[in-house]
Amino acid sequence: MTGERYDTIIVGGGPAGLTAGIYTAREQLRTLLLEKAICGGWPLLTATIENYPGFPEGISGAELAARFKAQAERFGVEIREREEAVALDLSGGKIGVETARGSWRGRSLILAPGCRMKKLGLPGEEELAGRGVSYCAVCDGPLYRGREVAVIGGGNVALEEALFLTRFAARVHLIHRRDRFRGEKLVAAELEKTGKARFLLKSVPVAIGGKDGVESITVRRTETGKEETVPVEAVFVFVGVEPNTGFIRETVRLNGDGFIVTDPAGKTSADGVFAAGDAREGNVRQIAAACGEGVAAAMAVRKLLVEY
Ligand code: NAP
Repeated sequence: MTGERYDTIIVGGGPAGLTAGIYTAREQLRTLLLEKAICGGWPLLTATIENYPGFPEGISGAELAARFKAQAERFGVEIREREEAVALDLSGGKIGVETARGSWRGRSLILAPGCRMKKLGLPGEEELAGRGVSYCAVCDGPLYRGREVAVIGGGNVALEEALFLTRFAARVHLIHRRDRFRGEKLVAAELEKTGKARFLLKSVPVAIGGKDGVESITVRRTETGKEETVPVEAVFVFVGVEPNTGFIRETVRLNGDGFIVTDPAGKTSADGVFAAGDAREGNVRQIAAACGEGVAAAMAVRKLLVEY
């Protein structure tokens, strides 16, 4: 199985990687897609997606993810789930991907590894992860029906997830360090309308308390320095993302934050290697944009392998 040579290898089974696969496989390029968990990417963590074109009523994230995967399979992408890329071998003009199960060789490579949620580094955060500290409202929100929970962050993810959590929680304490949100006003207004959200602005979280599970969060007011301990049973952390590019190391140029640097067509600093999606520098982190970048990377591969 290992050592086989594919026309293209795709690392990452989110919207960018699956879309790239749909295009390369339709071109009859032998395509292998490696996904460290299960295919779907960010949509799997989102209850309802309302801004992906073609679904005027919205679509569940899980269903959109399943449709992307089914379409890639229909065109013959060989998908290997739970197979994480741990290193690249680009020495001497080769294109190789190492995983825990073996090594794969390609004539081209599309990197679409996506991002993961940032951690805060607060006391209590690591100890209580999975016992009240969560980075996924869709996964854990329903556990807190009728309870008080906190959300940390002021971007679109924090606002949207806080809104989702109001479906279950008795109250959602939204803790944000500034006096205004980075995310869309429309979502903040919807959140306010639920009557279940308490906005703690100009407040930074300083510690998460609890023994066997989360019992409280302590915040410090930025203006006064006063601390308040809020009793909550869960803390959802949504303070931005960081790219899953550790396996790339020195093989392809990354920027200072670890995002993959490319030209507008998605070409990286290495020959035959392209990048698409959330881990690419300058990406706008929208599902439709990730799909578009997957298309661009696949077209660049086509140009390299088919048109030459
Ligand atoms: P983001 O927009 O970067 O927001 C991160 C938030 O966390 C900011 O409000 C930031 O505060 C806060 N923060 C960062 N570090 C913190 C710390 N150490 N302590 C306390 N707060 C901290 O990240 P995101 O919400 O994950 O969204 C990422 C991208 O995805 C954005 O471009 C977003 O627009 C996009 N997205 C869009 C949609 C949509 O269009 N519907 C949905 C989801 C995501 P400051 O504001 O003070 O910096």
